[in-house]
Amino acid sequence: MKLYVLLPAYNEEQALPPLAQKIDDTAKEHGIDYCIVVVNDGSSDDTARVAEELGKQYPIDLVSHKYNRGLGETIRDGFEYICELAAPDDIIVRMDCDDTHHPKYIPTMIEKINQGYEVVITSRYAPGGGQIGVNWYRRAMSRAANSLMKMIFPIPGVWEYSCGYRAYRASAIQDAIAIFGNRFIDLKGMGFTGTVEKIIKFKMMGVRITEIPFVLRYDQKIGVSKVVSSITTLGYLALILKNIVYWGDIGKTWQEKIAERKARVYGPDGKLIDKQGGA
Ligand SMILES: [Mg+2]
Repeated sequence: MKLYVLLPAYNEEQALPPLAQKIDDTAKEHGIDYCIVVVNDGSSDDTARVAEELGKQYPIDLVSHKYNRGLGETIRDGFEYICELAAPDDIIVRMDCDDTHHPKYIPTMIEKINQGYEVVITSRYAPGGGQIGVNWYRRAMSRAANSLMKMIFPIPGVWEYSCGYRAYRASAIQDAIAIFGNRFIDLKGMGFTGTVEKIIKFKMMGVRITEIPFVLRYDQKIGVSKVVSSITTLGYLALILKNIVYWGDIGKTWQEKIAERKARVYGPDGKLIDKQGGA
């Protein structure tokens, strides 16, 4: 198993070096073979050069957008890049590049994936989870958005829909791209909506999702937040409207492809099991 760490990076020249070091420490401590994929989203600072420099020290691939395209397109491109390289049973962890997501959660997430879950979310709302340094307004907005999503798109055992720090079995993302194509992350221009949208698409696919407690260290944030709350809020509303009912042929095509996927059985090791009984 190889681990791919996807880092969407927009003006993260300061946060990238300490984060790369922590990822490397965690991987070495647990004997994990890994590769970091930095997607530099048209940064106006030295993110690209810093990533290249760090590449001499750590296994880092750099993908660059010439222009700033936003988080949705950055994640899509990162996933597509990794999915070309990864074996279906590899693991992809996507985390923020602002040094507020500690890599120490990665081994626990890998454990959960090896138990048979295909998506593991780090959750501020799981017992033992939390957030430090987030102002009351953002906390309240986030809580409200997550409760709303839980109500409309309930997933057993999951309360955190909007935290992007997650681990995925590569096959889950590879299959999602095969099923939804460019519409896997449909609302690319709507702030950080794509993070929630992926969970809704995975729920639709019947993917096994769980969460682990996580403490968001927003107090360690280097630089300013790039989240645009108003666009993201609008995005959530669009997301609900678009995903309650699927109009026309598109929903039917998706359902057919999802049925095909459900007919395949993946073992807890992420390998495809032949339904006839063989491996
Ligand atoms: Mg962040």
